[in-house]
Amino acid sequence: MDIQRSIAAPCRHGGGTTLECRPFGPPCPPVPESPELPLIADIAVDCPGRDHYSWLVPEDLPVAPGDCVTVPFGRQTLRGFALSVERRAAPTTFTLKPVLGRQEGVRLPPHLLRLIAWGARYYRCSLGEFLAGAVPKPVREGAKPDIRIRYARIDGFAGKLTARQRQVYEAMSPVPTLRTELHEATGASESVFDKLVDLGAAQRIETEDIQEIRLGAKVERHPLTNEQTVAVEAVAKALDAGRHETFLLYGVTGSGKTLVYLELAERVIAAGKQVLLLLPEIGLTPQLAARVRTRLPRTEVMHSGFTDGERAAAWARIAAGLVDLVVGTRSALFAPLPAPGLLIVDEEHDPSYKQESTPRYHARDLAVVYAGHLGVPVILGSATPSLETVHNARPQDGKPARYTVLSLKNRPAGGKLPTPVLVDMRDECKAQKRAAVLSTVLVDHLVKAKAAGSQAIILLNRRGWAPILSCGECGQAVMCTSCDIALTWHKAEGILKCHYCGARRPRPQDCPVCTADALGTTGIGTEQLAAAIPEAVPGMTVLRVDADTVAGRQGHARLFQQFAEGAADCLVGTQMVAKGLNFPKVTVVGVLCADKGLAVPDFRAGERTWQLIAQVAGRAGRADRPGTVVVQAYDIDAPAIRCALENRPKTFVDAELKQRQEYGYPPYTGLIRILWTGESQANVQLVAQDHAQRLEAARHGAVVLGPTPASLAFGKDLHRWHALIKCASRGAAQALLDRLAAEGGLPEKKGVTVTIDVDPQVTG
Ligand code: ADP
Ligand code: ZN
Repeated sequence: MDIQRSIAAPCRHGGGTTLECRPFGPPCPPVPESPELPLIADIAVDCPGRDHYSWLVPEDLPVAPGDCVTVPFGRQTLRGFALSVERRAAPTTFTLKPVLGRQEGVRLPPHLLRLIAWGARYYRCSLGEFLAGAVPKPVREGAKPDIRIRYARIDGFAGKLTARQRQVYEAMSPVPTLRTELHEATGASESVFDKLVDLGAAQRIETEDIQEIRLGAKVERHPLTNEQTVAVEAVAKALDAGRHETFLLYGVTGSGKTLVYLELAERVIAAGKQVLLLLPEIGLTPQLAARVRTRLPRTEVMHSGFTDGERAAAWARIAAGLVDLVVGTRSALFAPLPAPGLLIVDEEHDPSYKQESTPRYHARDLAVVYAGHLGVPVILGSATPSLETVHNARPQDGKPARYTVLSLKNRPAGGKLPTPVLVDMRDECKAQKRAAVLSTVLVDHLVKAKAAGSQAIILLNRRGWAPILSCGECGQAVMCTSCDIALTWHKAEGILKCHYCGARRPRPQDCPVCTADALGTTGIGTEQLAAAIPEAVPGMTVLRVDADTVAGRQGHARLFQQFAEGAADCLVGTQMVAKGLNFPKVTVVGVLCADKGLAVPDFRAGERTWQLIAQVAGRAGRADRPGTVVVQAYDIDAPAIRCALENRPKTFVDAELKQRQEYGYPPYTGLIRILWTGESQANVQLVAQDHAQRLEAARHGAVVLGPTPASLAFGKDLHRWHALIKCASRGAAQALLDRLAAEGGLPEKKGVTVTIDVDPQVTG
């Protein structure tokens, strides 16, 4: 990874550069203390623009680097973080104002400040904006930490329970679990948990010191397989040597990557350091956290579903060194661990590691940088690694590979990879003499699964009833007026929705264009699929998981839990169903419209399709039951589909990398995307074109594509233009942005917002 960059701003202390200076790295030569000089703090406040401004530190309000403070800023009061505090001469041209207050108990460790400073420069936002994105709001605003309530089930309870109570009891863990997590996993409220306590089936724990709690859980401690041992020892060697090294743990689904993480985590913790484990999906954290806690009780989850008080409590405990391992989604990277000794990014290929709002960081890439700063190993785990990571794990131009590959090729718990079946839907439609949804082969397998008491998962990456509502007379589809995109029909809700901007419209009776009474739907979404399955397979019960059935972001853990408990025969859903879950009873996996994702204008379309199919196929046949994966497509020769299905990752990766190189896309180049948004189409276009000319002038060999109108609109009536800049490398992209900044940046214009997206994941 070419994230090396030069941060050339000279240090005020005369030595090194800004980031080498206190508090970010090795200290500068000490500045002589002069007690007659005022104490001045450089503070990053939450606003765009400069990285920091200066304030006076009152003698009775001690402030240290990393502290969260409030300061007067123009007519407002803003929050910010102190970067440095020292005695120096006050400016002569204006009067410094004093710091107003300090948040008790919130101090960022220096290594975290350094990471955030690095991120702010690389991703081109102000330090204050990055800090605001990295430190949870309840922490910054001083929410009072809640005493957290946990419940644990008492194993061997033989008393009477109602069906619902029994269900909740079964779903509870013997390891004390936070009320919020438990509520999410079971859907039950606190009164149900308390009832179980009254009945003697569970215990309620109100102490924060969870190590005191007797753990009744079975600990997952298998002897390691040879492959696992090799992987553990390789990382342990770097740990023992106190060396930074990046590992790609390349393991098929079900190959026991988690066990490797746990073994290593134990060693790190025994050495007095902490571990950070990142996951792509919030829905997976409770499941994994429960598993991790059986071995490592001092595990903390960073979870946006928590209450403010719970989040503040989690943060405070981590900062106080009471936590050994943090599990969470991308923002958990900024957990204030005192001494992180190992970083792990599971499912490292997942696009959700990139934040699509300021700060637009990529948590995997930042984790690699962070581990470099800390001098510790980092593990990137995946069955379908991103092409960037694969590239970094191969030798380049005679130079050794940057990353070390550790392979897990077998499934220790048994279970073969599923038998692949590819269905050409052109033939299928001819044979069925209609626009077929489910192929005969898939229906046959579903019928057999139902008869055998097994379960199935069907992936269709499109929600709603039908993606198009169009007129049989004039052929026009009903469109979103702000996005110029066909509206999706949601039958149960009786409403048309725009899947880009979220606009909702009632269904018109007649065609809005020609007024004919001839509107009808085309295509199929998950809602219709869920209705079609019981018709094709009598008696088959269906559970649907997509953005419409998942209330907020917390519901899918519960739906997955219900499916795992056998609440339905078949799980239908969007790409949510493909992500790292272990359902031992699933023997059939279906993928509908597998080639749909290939049609989007994104150079990663092939990679994403390959990952999605390979991941969902890995859900079949994990335990002792053999599995089948049925993939339906029109373009059955697409390499992304064939290679995923036939488990030939190298063929796909080699061909795809060759194409990327030929067309000049990452990992062979560095990309920057610039976005212009505003309410006036004319203004947006004008600014976009002006800026693009300046970019052309500063480009030094880079290629500027665009500006053009962006295909997705965001928010109501916003016009969006974008341009893509291809540079020779990520370093060259940074150099271009530096040159641009040195020349004064892109001139601002009222009403038009300019966004710089470094290493964009969305390019359409
Ligand atoms: P992954 O994270 O790679 O998808 P998991 O860590 O979830 O895989 O492991 C899959 C299954 O294999 C789990 O049920 C786990 O308990 C089991 N497993 C892992 N390692 C071993 C081992 N060495 N011996 C026996 N079973 C194992
Ligand atoms: Zn819209």
